[in-house]
Amino acid sequence: MIRVDNLSFTYPGAPSPTVKGLSFEVSEGEIFGFLGPSGAGKSTTQNILIGLLDRWQGEIEVMGRSLRDWRRDYYRHIGVSFELPNHYLKLTARENLEYFRALYDGDTDAPEKVMALVGLSEHLDKPVSAYSKGMKNRLTLARSLLNRPSLWFLDEPTSGLDPVNAVHVRDLVKARQAQGVTTIITTHDMLIADALCDRVGFIVDGELVEVGAPDDLKRRYGRREVEISWGGDHAPRRERFPLDGLSEQPEFLRILREETVTSLHSQETTLEDVFVQVTGRSLR
Ligand code: ADP
Ligand code: MG
Repeated sequence: MIRVDNLSFTYPGAPSPTVKGLSFEVSEGEIFGFLGPSGAGKSTTQNILIGLLDRWQGEIEVMGRSLRDWRRDYYRHIGVSFELPNHYLKLTARENLEYFRALYDGDTDAPEKVMALVGLSEHLDKPVSAYSKGMKNRLTLARSLLNRPSLWFLDEPTSGLDPVNAVHVRDLVKARQAQGVTTIITTHDMLIADALCDRVGFIVDGELVEVGAPDDLKRRYGRREVEISWGGDHAPRRERFPLDGLSEQPEFLRILREETVTSLHSQETTLEDVFVQVTGRSLR
């Protein structure tokens, strides 16, 4: 669906590039995430891919055509949800959607249809000023689906959302995937990256440091460990041992034999652990 080769970009007047030699591919129907801390260059990359920024270097091919050759018809195929929603607050959701719908020259869905997709059907005729933050966020997503995009760009779709609304977003993206939609997400939320993305790319200081499926990355980089606790209330002790070679670990065996073990469990590696290990940087 997308092939990017050695993409670099410098903002006019900036002393150094913001995007540095990115190369990656996204398959049709895939959910691909850019995971990285604030300022890493995620939004810049998205804005290049949706044609908002030009004078980038490298090659970008979308749906088999170089991005340089796409014209206005590109916007018939893509849906874009920006990080900061800009709705007309005095208008109802329906009026907002009708307004944006009129900007498209291709086929579009009715407000009823996209609002049903995001679970806001009963709020269609309320002014957006009466919407909660989570509802505005879902309205943003509804708007980005008006033109039935086959390629969907979501910039920080769960930013500032409570867990319930974040799950809404997750389910919605999965449901679009079931309809064949390809989605590119930028996020600094490792839970969303882990739960939603088929593959994630770690991006730090404009560089793509690693790309892979969350589970593969955890397997590859995760330290598989067990944590054992013993000693009871008065002298509690706790130690971690590598899972590999555990049966030949004398201290572990000694604890098992001689101490009163109070708990024993394996430690799950999180995507955030892997991110820190691979990039040397925190997501916050
Ligand atoms: P992210 O989305 O990963 O938080 P951005 O792509 O928004 O990161 O920003 C990456 C870097 O580019 C930051 O250092 C930011 O200050 C800079 N930047 C973003 N937008 C502009 C702009 N319009 N002009 C100049 N620099 C910008
Ligand atoms: Mg951003």
